[in-house]
Amino acid sequence: MANLTFLGAAGTVTGSKYLVEAGGKRLLIDCGLFQGPRELRQRNWDHQPLDVSTIDWVVLTHAHLDHTGWLPCLVRDGYRGPIFADPATIELANILLPDSAHIMEEDAQSAARHGTSRHNPVLPLYTHQQVAPTLAALKPIPREGASTISPQFTVRLRDAGHILGSTNIELTITENGRTTTVMFSGDIGRYNNLILKDPTPPPNCDVLLCESTYGDRDHPTDPPDQAIADIVNRVVKRGGVIVIPAFAVDRTQSLMYVVRKLEDAGTIPKLPIYVDSPMAINVSTFYRAHHEDYNQRFAAEATHGDPLDALSIHLTRSVQESKQINNVKSPAIIISASGMASGGRVMHHLIQRLPDARNAVILAGFQAQGTTGRQLQDGAKSVRIIGQEVEVKAEVQSLGQFSAHGDRGEILRWLGGMPAPPRTTYLTHGEPTASQALKTLIESKMKGWKIALPAYRQTVDLNS
Ligand SMILES: [Zn+2]
Repeated sequence: MANLTFLGAAGTVTGSKYLVEAGGKRLLIDCGLFQGPRELRQRNWDHQPLDVSTIDWVVLTHAHLDHTGWLPCLVRDGYRGPIFADPATIELANILLPDSAHIMEEDAQSAARHGTSRHNPVLPLYTHQQVAPTLAALKPIPREGASTISPQFTVRLRDAGHILGSTNIELTITENGRTTTVMFSGDIGRYNNLILKDPTPPPNCDVLLCESTYGDRDHPTDPPDQAIADIVNRVVKRGGVIVIPAFAVDRTQSLMYVVRKLEDAGTIPKLPIYVDSPMAINVSTFYRAHHEDYNQRFAAEATHGDPLDALSIHLTRSVQESKQINNVKSPAIIISASGMASGGRVMHHLIQRLPDARNAVILAGFQAQGTTGRQLQDGAKSVRIIGQEVEVKAEVQSLGQFSAHGDRGEILRWLGGMPAPPRTTYLTHGEPTASQALKTLIESKMKGWKIALPAYRQTVDLNS
């Protein structure tokens, strides 16, 4: 009997981990980190409800840490099999996982220094040395065609249009002569993305797991370049600096592309742009290399030069260079990680820039509960960063246009591409209100769809 257990991203947006069991074998789809509030992060430390050494294979949908960031724990605790993924996902994981360890180590040191942790000693979840065996286990599988993993499991990857290398996974399970197909949506991207291709319509399946991050919302429809131009021109006029907490993967490249386009068109003045994230700088080289993920427009522009190269761009790698940005007084744009202001260099820029009303902070994507980004989005008058209370005087703007996740309309469009409804659809990867709203929307708009909201650690029979 084939079954599936939701080990994460059930009732929340992080920690994606789905265990499939069939024919005595165990396959894990994604192995993400829980992020956000302390109760959720605690799950990263809890003993998982299974012996990880009994897992036979892992397949990844894409490189984001909420889908890959628990892999070092899995390998440390005894997993010895391969970790299959798209080649671009492997390249990104080679940057994201060591960086994740680095941030954890830095945060642990900082918490120890400032006495902001309840633990003594303060330890990181994993260290960068513990990441190396995980990277060695990553094995590429092609985007096109079927990859047979074992007599029980065959996977096919399809474009998800979310970040470079992102895919949906179609899993065919064969057991006692019976086949069951399970689709894992991974994170569904945008239609008409600035850089990437549209998500591929899904095939028929028996069971579907569909993300629901924006299940209760539509993204703004006005073009992202106009929204950025409005803010930039307003802030330039009052002599301020713009800080954009941006995910190093995709968001930073989309912002670099938009700024370059606006500069070329003369819509905004030529400004110093600081890309203050060594990881984002490295990731940009992958975006320049993987033309297979480009949409037609971006591919055409890439034949005439580098569309990601703003006119006055400063790529800061060292901590020293990063600190010097504090001295910048004239209008400038600082793009820095992390994207939800939950750690990383952007925290120092926020401490520096939030108390000045001339400045602006642009939140360019999803801000999870419990993050500083979410507090800013919710209109906090002050936020606590690295043990200090920081007054929020700067203008705060949320630009949903830059989200890498499809909104509810785009999720419905993707679902509508499926020739027939699955037997059961589980909505995952959403906060409860978003998943519930999407369930109601699908049931009201699409005939014959049976929707369920799974619970953390719930096991379901895939054949029933
Ligand atoms: Zn993602």
